[in-house]
Amino acid sequence: CGIVGYVGNKDAKEILLRGLEKLEYRGYDSAGIAVVDNDGVQVFKEKGRIAILREIVDPSVETSMGIGHTRWATHGAPSKVNSHPHQSAEERFTLVHNGVIENYENVKREYLPNVEFASDTDTEVVVQLIEKFVNEGENVEEAFRHALSVIKGSYAIALVDNQDSDTIYVGKNKSPLLVGVGDGFNVVASDAMAMISQTDQYVELMDEEIVIVTRDTYTIKTLEGKEVARSPYTAELDA
Ligand code: GLU
Repeated sequence: CGIVGYVGNKDAKEILLRGLEKLEYRGYDSAGIAVVDNDGVQVFKEKGRIAILREIVDPSVETSMGIGHTRWATHGAPSKVNSHPHQSAEERFTLVHNGVIENYENVKREYLPNVEFASDTDTEVVVQLIEKFVNEGENVEEAFRHALSVIKGSYAIALVDNQDSDTIYVGKNKSPLLVGVGDGFNVVASDAMAMISQTDQYVELMDEEIVIVTRDTYTIKTLEGKEVARSPYTAELDA
């Protein structure tokens, strides 16, 4: 299981697929990517190997940002519908998650009683919660922080908005996640190994922090919205 993300100027789908291949050693049962451009989001996902995912990704899609995931199922059998990325009911938001949302049943009951869920995963509550909070008037960053304050458990999460091809939102609690800093691009990865061919500059995240990642900036905040300053370190890995 692992997460990758890229926002920059190159072909995102190839960078995401290669990143996921580098994470294969961690073990997984399904894989998927979501890419965003001015026309919105496209999701490709499948049970099984990344080689299978590679075959179903439309080669004509040209985008320079997206997120990717390898899944190790904890809630819901390995299948295409349970594979990540998961989307909200109105399909505005698309998200990948590693970890376990321990209170997902309570969250469903309490906050999302009328939402029809597409998957059997614990993960899907997070993306549905974000859309609900946005529909109630919060901006995307507020809704993201709000949703992460409601859920309990472990997570590394990357989120994209189909109306914004410039921003990846990430969050972390008790699951590994790094932001990689480049010149004109930034990346996200569970392990620096996945993106070491792009950059060797990484920013560590603490539990219950989010990062708003764009091509040229990364902004770390607490779940309360307080900004945190942190510089990258140089990862010593063979590319
Ligand atoms: N709990 C989530 C699921 O079963 C994420 C599993 C993972 O870490 O890959 O879909």
